[in-house]
Amino acid sequence: MKIDTTCVQGAKDKNNLTGSISVPIYQSAAFAHPAVGKSTGYDYSRTQNPTREALENVVAKLKCAAGAIAFSTGMAAMATLMELFSPGSHIIATDDLYGGSIRLFDKISAKNGLVFDYVDTNDIPAIKSKIKKNTKAIFIETPTNPMMKVTDIAKVAELAENTDILLIVDNTFLTPYLQQPLTLGADIVVHSGTKYLGGHNDTLAGFLAVANAEIGEKLRFIHKTIGACLSPFDSFLIIRGIKTLAIRMEKAQENAKALADWLPRQKKVTKVYYPGTGAMISFSVESEHIACQIIESVKIVMFAESLGGVETLITYPMLQTHADVPNEDRLARGIDEKLLRMSVGIENVEDLIEDLEKAINN
Ligand SMILES: *Cc1c(COP(=O)(O)O)cnc(C)c1O
Repeated sequence: MKIDTTCVQGAKDKNNLTGSISVPIYQSAAFAHPAVGKSTGYDYSRTQNPTREALENVVAKLKCAAGAIAFSTGMAAMATLMELFSPGSHIIATDDLYGGSIRLFDKISAKNGLVFDYVDTNDIPAIKSKIKKNTKAIFIETPTNPMMKVTDIAKVAELAENTDILLIVDNTFLTPYLQQPLTLGADIVVHSGTKYLGGHNDTLAGFLAVANAEIGEKLRFIHKTIGACLSPFDSFLIIRGIKTLAIRMEKAQENAKALADWLPRQKKVTKVYYPGTGAMISFSVESEHIACQIIESVKIVMFAESLGGVETLITYPMLQTHADVPNEDRLARGIDEKLLRMSVGIENVEDLIEDLEKAINN
């Protein structure tokens, strides 16, 4: 089955007796047992719920994974993932990560004894030079947020092959529709479902998907123990979002390509960062004043953090997503007062261009 068909038809309620086309919301915390020692397969919704299970199954199919687990947020998935490691474990991570991931690693995981090194993960010798005896994982985000730096997942996978180093990829930006890290050799994929999978800026969710069922079991045990699981209603909303993932990604990408072509031709735009795929664009303008003017004058494009929804959003990374990153690190990474990031939606691109044109040149 092709991926766009899986998006539309992949979520099935395996308990369906009614012919219901859509997976029902099983809004139940507990499930009655038919007899002593017997279970319907569901006991308590923290452990598993039929709506969440249908969502996890379609996500596993989309990612060519041995299994997938749904969390209440992307960060809940990340925090659960960190419980896989013991104090003293060393993790090498991309040096331009999502701000929330940096905050988790440096403020919480570090306190629990995990040690992090940040490198440009597209520089294979740089990764190699950081590998130590206690290195347990390489954590990649590609393209990065907000500088759109790209890492060759297959090359890093080669490096980690035949070692016990896990290759973990945050695939939030491109989604399984545009990038399949497990197929390229990654062990675990983490995903904020809040973004493109949900796609409508109305639901928070997160996922872990694994290549290997044994790691999947370990993570599922941590998941049910910690309990950051996705509710039945939110599971339903993400299933519904996934149905249109393919056409949303196509349209948003088409719009993003048009904007990536138009933006560099604007006099006040000094640099455009677009990796050639997906619908995220960052760009620099001549001054802080112009950056603020754009944010405050756009009418169709909305000034909001988050990404991956049908609406086009613009953010000011310095003040929003990366506000917690120390100034020096932030500036070293190019995240300054002139940089804006845009999550391109599925509106008519002529309207987006007209809106931005007025905002940039007013
Ligand atoms: C949003 C995001 C996260 C965190 O997900 P939440 O659902 O907001 O908790 C992690 N990684 C990336 C790349 C993101 O964009």
